Amino acid sequence: MLQITNLSKTYPNGVQALKNVSLNISNGMFGLLGPNGAGKSSLMRTIATLQDADSGTIQFGDINVTTQKEELRKVLGYLPQEFGVYPKVSAEEMLHYIARLKGIGNDKERKELVKALLEQVNLYQHRTKYLGGYSGGMKQRFGIAQALIGNPKLIIVDEPTAGLDPAERLRFNNLLSEIGENIIVILSTHIVDDVSELCNDMAIIANGQVVQKGHPEALVTQLQHQVWTKKVKKEEVAQYQGEYKVILSKLSAGAVVIYVTSENDPGIGFEAHKTTLEDIYFANIS
Ligand code: ADP
Repeated sequence: MLQITNLSKTYPNGVQALKNVSLNISNGMFGLLGPNGAGKSSLMRTIATLQDADSGTIQFGDINVTTQKEELRKVLGYLPQEFGVYPKVSAEEMLHYIARLKGIGNDKERKELVKALLEQVNLYQHRTKYLGGYSGGMKQRFGIAQALIGNPKLIIVDEPTAGLDPAERLRFNNLLSEIGENIIVILSTHIVDDVSELCNDMAIIANGQVVQKGHPEALVTQLQHQVWTKKVKKEEVAQYQGEYKVILSKLSAGAVVIYVTSENDPGIGFEAHKTTLEDIYFANIS
């Protein structure tokens, strides 16, 4: 169990990135969903011991993350948002190098591990290619392979599918869900579908604060029968925003569809909409 309690962080420039964040996270895939600038990376970096919070605590099992950074690092796999690779090194060489750094000195053991990891992330056939020639999806799968070295108990992946094409994203998400069965995987993302497809527990973070947390399906029931849509003209949107609680407006074949929350039928032209996690997300960040 990872217990985050009352975590706050203000950067030297005065931006308060985390405000009293508290979360309890247990085994499985946990989705941390929020818009750009919400504080996701700040939270991920703090859990990964790369920066300190101003106040609050993080406890992972027996490990006090603030005071026992080295202990946490031994059980952590981390795929940062900006994952740079050495362009003129092959995936196989790089994994050997990282495995040696992580203390796997025995040649035979390391060889077997690197082979198993390359197979797991489906890069075995590309193992001798330079990382510089990898596609976005291949780089991310390589990133997961390196994060898995050392049998981590906690894996943090920060916005991993941003920039991947749909097929690459699907492949990457399938890989993540296989990994997430026996350990904690925290997936930070602004892509709602990644969370609804993969995560059994989640939180929505906005302006440095946790605004919702729980099982995705349970969150969806909060607004059941309370979301309504209407096709309107572009120039009418502002007027509707004044009169209704518009959580989202989407382009649809040249027109605009507005999404409104209301306990009662808002009236002529509105249609009942089956609530989705996307509605919950926009209702909480707008
Ligand atoms: P997210 O990952 O959700 O996009 P971040 O944690 O990166 O959010 O950023 C949260 C806020 O903190 C933003 O306003 C961002 O500009 C600011 N921020 C992030 N890192 C730093 C930093 N090192 N110094 C100053 N401000 C920062």
